Amino acid sequence: MPYCILKNYNLKKMATKKSKKPTRSKLVKLADKVFSEFIRQRNANELGITECFTCGKVDHWKKLQCGHFQSRKHYNTRWNEKNCQVQCAGCNVFRYGEQYKFGLYLNKKYGGNISEKLMNDARKVIKLANFELQEIIDHYKSEILKLN
Ligand SMILES: [Zn+2]
Repeated sequence: MPYCILKNYNLKKMATKKSKKPTRSKLVKLADKVFSEFIRQRNANELGITECFTCGKVDHWKKLQCGHFQSRKHYNTRWNEKNCQVQCAGCNVFRYGEQYKFGLYLNKKYGGNISEKLMNDARKVIKLANFELQEIIDHYKSEILKLN
């Protein structure tokens, strides 16, 4: 049995034991936390310093945020590595994410019309199973380890 299927099988088996079943909202929260750490650390230098995608402010990754181009309410792009970039609180919170600039810079960074593609992708409604949320968590945990 391939490893990934085996892993899912075990998770499903675990999920039948009521006491060990992580709630969906807990999995979403944890996936957000781990993914956010990955996004903020991926371009940080050895001192942990990185830069706001939309204004260029530099700070330690722990003091910056994971900004979403398309809102987190869209699950299809919620954990998309292009849709999410480092932002300072000024841009992400007080300037509502600077979505226009965000889109322009995404096109500059990745080329073509990536912002339009993300906008379309965001509107596709998906429902992730709990084991898929767990896979996101596991994947980004190991990606963070690779960065350090
Ligand atoms: Zn900023």
